[in-house]
Amino acid sequence: MDSVPKPHAVCIPLPAQGHINPMLKLAKLLHSKGFHITFVHTQFNYNRLINSMCPDSVNQGPPNFRFEVVSDGLEPANQRGIMDLPALCEAMPVHLLESFRELLVRVRDSPDVPPVTCVVSDGVMSFTMEVAEEFGLKEVLFFTPSGCGMLGYLQFEELLIRGYFPLKDESCLSNGYLDTQIDWIPGVRGIRLKDLPTFLRTTNPQDTMFNYNLESINNALKSKSIILNTFDDLEQQVLDVMRTKFEKIYTIGPLSMLCQQIPNAEQLDSIQSNLWKEDSECLDWLDDREIGSVVYVNFGSLIIVTKEQLCEFAWGLANSKYSFLWVIRTDLVDGGTEILSGEFTEEIRGRGLLLGWCPQEKVLSHRSVGGFLTHCGWNSALESLCEGVPVICWPFFAEQQMNCLYLCDKWGVGMEIDADVRREKVEGLVRELMDGGKGKELRRNAMEWKERAEEATMAGGSSYMNFDVLVKHLKQESL
Ligand code: UDP
Repeated sequence: MDSVPKPHAVCIPLPAQGHINPMLKLAKLLHSKGFHITFVHTQFNYNRLINSMCPDSVNQGPPNFRFEVVSDGLEPANQRGIMDLPALCEAMPVHLLESFRELLVRVRDSPDVPPVTCVVSDGVMSFTMEVAEEFGLKEVLFFTPSGCGMLGYLQFEELLIRGYFPLKDESCLSNGYLDTQIDWIPGVRGIRLKDLPTFLRTTNPQDTMFNYNLESINNALKSKSIILNTFDDLEQQVLDVMRTKFEKIYTIGPLSMLCQQIPNAEQLDSIQSNLWKEDSECLDWLDDREIGSVVYVNFGSLIIVTKEQLCEFAWGLANSKYSFLWVIRTDLVDGGTEILSGEFTEEIRGRGLLLGWCPQEKVLSHRSVGGFLTHCGWNSALESLCEGVPVICWPFFAEQQMNCLYLCDKWGVGMEIDADVRREKVEGLVRELMDGGKGKELRRNAMEWKERAEEATMAGGSSYMNFDVLVKHLKQESL
């Protein structure tokens, strides 16, 4: 070991794909700046990760990059195919916290690794701050949503005080109440209640997700600095407002682009984060298609759709007559996928590819992909912007509605589908996106954002420089 030990960062993401991916990118970036990394998975996810990898790549990471596991506290009976977020949010601040404490003791007492110097924790796991403080460690919170999404969460307290939430009764969900305009949030104009994070849509003041998010944000406000996977140029107004609330915001996104600046990045390629087994043969399928001719469809890792919704999307895509690549996770549909056989299979023969999980960033960067039908998870939205691919938005929950608003109205790269999806609408929007005048305009805008993202992450760009400042901050001895 060197005479001066390496700085050692313990990185702990929320155990969900959309949080693990950006945290892993950040960990790789820190590793490239000389950090020893301990990356923490839950035991449940670690097992899934191992199962989804090709056996040769297990344990092939570079030196100074280690994985550790903690328990999420959920009973094996609850070890669900799909994530039970409320159960997880209830278990984590008790069980996972304790397990994390034990892990830090183990790592601290290990002669094989340098002493831990800092904790980089998911913003929605700000309960870890308590343990970091106990161990005298510096901690920075990494919020994986967009800046605009975060601004939404920052309004929870105010919405509560002003009496907008909890909802008076269930009828508020369907009687137009959610169309109420909100004009008092600084930095955001033309916003409705339904654009705000969906955890607010509850009549129960004790609702787990509502209170978990409220507490996470209030806790985070006590921390001096946070990290965001966005770039200044993209969300300037929102960030200006947020900077009045946090002493320091490190905007270092898009992380996938910043990672391209890592020298010898290949040695980190073997470190994967897929919880589902990836089908990379779809890249060969894309190779055989014409430039910009394929619609890519993916609703991320968490959402569940009904049979009826699946059916509307399926026939909307089929009737558009475009080629499409559609990721249908084994756990995506509530109620079975039999609709995707028989007549439908016949109809899409030779132009529709259905698969369980794909290398999304590679797919989006493929020249054959011309548009993306997305649920607007922040990673997906940003990955699409990074490749200059315009989107059709079908936001589902959390802050996806806010991302949709920004993608469509502020950044000019998207068109929205109603929550109550209909096949005619899907067909029409796909045609417009792929070949219409509006589609061309969205594509031009998306290409422009791609260039601006490149500028932000190149040497001298805002995200590049902010990352350097973050590294200095994390390397400093004092808390
Ligand atoms: N992803 C992937 N392959 C898939 C589906 C998703 O690699 O078939 C990745 C995607 O690139 C993104 C993450 O999983 O990084 C999903 O995160 P996002 O924020 O878009 O949505 P969430 O899953 O959190 O709803």
